[in-house]
Amino acid sequence: MDYLRLALDEARKCTPSPTAFCVGCVIIATYPPNASQPAILARGYSRELPGNTHAEANALAKARSLSEDELAALFPDAPDPLDIDAILENADIYTTMEPCSVRTSGLAPCADAVIAARMKRCFIGVGEPDDFVKCEGAQKLKDAGVEVIWLDGLEKECLEVARMGRE
Ligand SMILES: [Zn+2]
Repeated sequence: MDYLRLALDEARKCTPSPTAFCVGCVIIATYPPNASQPAILARGYSRELPGNTHAEANALAKARSLSEDELAALFPDAPDPLDIDAILENADIYTTMEPCSVRTSGLAPCADAVIAARMKRCFIGVGEPDDFVKCEGAQKLKDAGVEVIWLDGLEKECLEVARMGRE
């Protein structure tokens, strides 16, 4: 739940939009898999990177742009050389809203990006309401073998932040 609060902090950084949700996420990795402490690999929020970009895709892009030195600082017990793909396979993503399954803009949906990164688990703050499109992200993740965990307790807050630009 603490990680979902960090994701909410990211969501609050979004520039509000009347036509898109404000979503935040964090990627938490335990690497090597037997490391005693997980590390925050990356954070992201909607429209953080140029264009109509999404939180999950942005966090993944930021994770992949980390330098070898930055990765070594995050994962001091990891063997050399550090491989971001291996780290992501041992990572969980916490997102304030269900990852999208359809993108009208033509960009790849976030659910596909999480699946492609072979991430282990996806923790979700609230389901995506049908404001814009019908979202089947959680089902898509499950079908691909990603464990989906719906978090209880912050649904209202996640939804309020998501709709910051709507009123
Ligand atoms: Zn998305």
